[in-house]
Amino acid sequence: LLVARTVRKSYGGVDVLKGITLTVNVGEVMCLLGPSGSGKSTFLRCINHLERIDGGRISVDGDLIGYVQRRNRIFEMNPREVARQRRGIGMVFQKFNLFPHMTALENVTAAPIGVKKMAKQQAAQRGMGLLDRVGLADLANSYPAQLSGGQQQRVAIARSLAMDPKLLLFDEPTSALDPELVGDVLDVMRGLARDGMTMIVVTHEIGFARGAADQVVFMDAGVVVESGPPAGVLDNPQNARTQAFLDSVM
Ligand code: ATP
Ligand code: MG
Repeated sequence: LLVARTVRKSYGGVDVLKGITLTVNVGEVMCLLGPSGSGKSTFLRCINHLERIDGGRISVDGDLIGYVQRRNRIFEMNPREVARQRRGIGMVFQKFNLFPHMTALENVTAAPIGVKKMAKQQAAQRGMGLLDRVGLADLANSYPAQLSGGQQQRVAIARSLAMDPKLLLFDEPTSALDPELVGDVLDVMRGLARDGMTMIVVTHEIGFARGAADQVVFMDAGVVVESGPPAGVLDNPQNARTQAFLDSVM
């Protein structure tokens, strides 16, 4: 589903991504690990075309991200096309960024109603189904300030799901949460994985990666250092940098 080939990105002459090549198949979960500053968030932002890449290419479901190819030439997409493309890719951040003046249900239905022009009734019905899926049907009418961090993050996940994304990106979805709230969010993510959602998850939760990931990718200083099934990368790392990182987080 996702193919990234030699993706490069630099900021003011500093190379942050130095040729990232990886593939995520439909229904797979990829966990992306790496030390602070290794380029994980930048890579996710490139997949969503929140950042322009300086080299290589990224495609999702066969479509180049941010570009269109016509007769062997590559053109930049216009902003409308980028917005349309981005709707197929959900993103869940460390900070949940819910709309504070909207209830949980309104947060979930805002985009289907506003962007997809779905009928309010239908959006609400689907929204309740999604809140139920993240275990929050009984809190549909609560405002973000009345919810715990873990509940807010689960609303944020339901909100992403409401646009029927092909691919869901998570950037450290549990690292802003109190430890006792992490488990519920990870449970929801495990449920999505079981249901066949294609996901890329930046996380330091090694237990989650071991149990839920099809592939683990370890990045350092803008390159993929090591990748493969969790049993290899996590339990029998071949690279000294992977080993050192795992020792630091486990
Ligand atoms: P963390 O684990 O701390 O979230 P990360 O792996 O997500 O780290 P990135 O946020 O992708 O790392 O950052 C990689 C590098 O790119 C860092 O050195 C950062 O300072 C730099 N960087 C990121 N965004 C920008 C930007 N908009 N302008 C300039 N430099 C940036
Ligand atoms: Mg980051």
